Amino acid sequence: MSQYRVTLIPGDGIGPEVTEATRRVLDASGVCFAWEPRDAGMAAADLHGDVLPEVTLASIRETGVGLKGPITTPIGTGFRSVNVGLRHSLGLYANLRPARTMKGVQSTFDDIDLVVVRENMEDLYAGVEFDAGLPETGEVISFLNERSSRQIAPGAAVSIKMITPEGSRRIVEYAFDYARANGRKKVTAVHKANIMKFSDGLFLRVAQEVAANYPDVEFNDRIVDNMCMQLMQKPDEYDVLVMPNLYGDIISDLVAGMVGGLGVAPSGNIGPDVAVFEPIHGSAPSHAGKNEANPTAMILSGALMLRHLGERTAAARVERAVAEVIADGQRVTYDLRADRDPSKAAGTSDMADAIIERLVGKG
Ligand code: NAD
Repeated sequence: MSQYRVTLIPGDGIGPEVTEATRRVLDASGVCFAWEPRDAGMAAADLHGDVLPEVTLASIRETGVGLKGPITTPIGTGFRSVNVGLRHSLGLYANLRPARTMKGVQSTFDDIDLVVVRENMEDLYAGVEFDAGLPETGEVISFLNERSSRQIAPGAAVSIKMITPEGSRRIVEYAFDYARANGRKKVTAVHKANIMKFSDGLFLRVAQEVAANYPDVEFNDRIVDNMCMQLMQKPDEYDVLVMPNLYGDIISDLVAGMVGGLGVAPSGNIGPDVAVFEPIHGSAPSHAGKNEANPTAMILSGALMLRHLGERTAAARVERAVAEVIADGQRVTYDLRADRDPSKAAGTSDMADAIIERLVGKG
């Protein structure tokens, strides 16, 4: 049997608890793992003098795959975001966020089964910004004003939206490859090319070119504001959605909200050589150390990792076990209970035990 080396980053806040629950569930899935625990975040800063130490990055480069708990980003301390650092250091250009309604999870929509593929490196997130009032900002504004019929006000702050043909091509190809590999029927490119004719226009043009190479997968496109309305009105018409970074940030949270929120939303960050899987929720510090956080999003991120490793049967078994425990409603964390009564809820580790019992046929 293959053994997979995986870099395990527990993170902080509720991270260590949901990571441990996930490790136990994955170990019970029948797939054999050699876990390589590594630090990131404040704990790593104390130990290694860096929130994202080279030993952690080196381990992910070596194993090719990481499973990561949430990490606190303190506000206003100059502490750089580990999540943005990981993405850029490892070239994790695709953010994969599947969202599916589950019986037992309160949500305003039924039968949602959508996958958001967000470009992770470009767009307004490239970090090319000029603050209002600085001399260099004035130089940038003068330079642009001399070359454009549209004028930027002298006191403006400026953020650059950068979209490349290469970045657009690889994210749209990723979405189509994902659709093919996972039996998905349709890819929708989301953009605002009617207004941003060059940047989003380029993204759309490349998406149309790529789509021509995948005649077996249906393709269409939607303007981002219309996409939001359509998701509210007829979500069943959509399947895989692919888009530049900023729209992806917003739409993936919208879609997560449609299926019941943060506690159940997994994600993967995929690059050409390595991939890192993590829940989309943060470190929820007020729940830390209380064995009460919902481990579902992290366990489903583990299932995404299993799929990425080619262990599809094990992934489906884990997803089914999670769905059954939630549908049963007896051994779930407080946030999955209609009464949200912590005194009647299961703890993080108890919910993991219930999932493991289903996996090994005792539930
Ligand atoms: P958060 O996701 O940590 O918490 C928001 C609320 O959602 C919490 O009050 C909590 O009630 C609930 N919640 C989230 N996850 C839950 C779970 N598994 N079980 C039960 N309830 C859960 O968001 P935040 O409060 O904005 O951020 C806290 C910290 O996490 C910040 O420092 C932020 O930067 C960081 N963060 C990290 C990541 C990451 O590492 N990928 C992602 C988002 C936020």
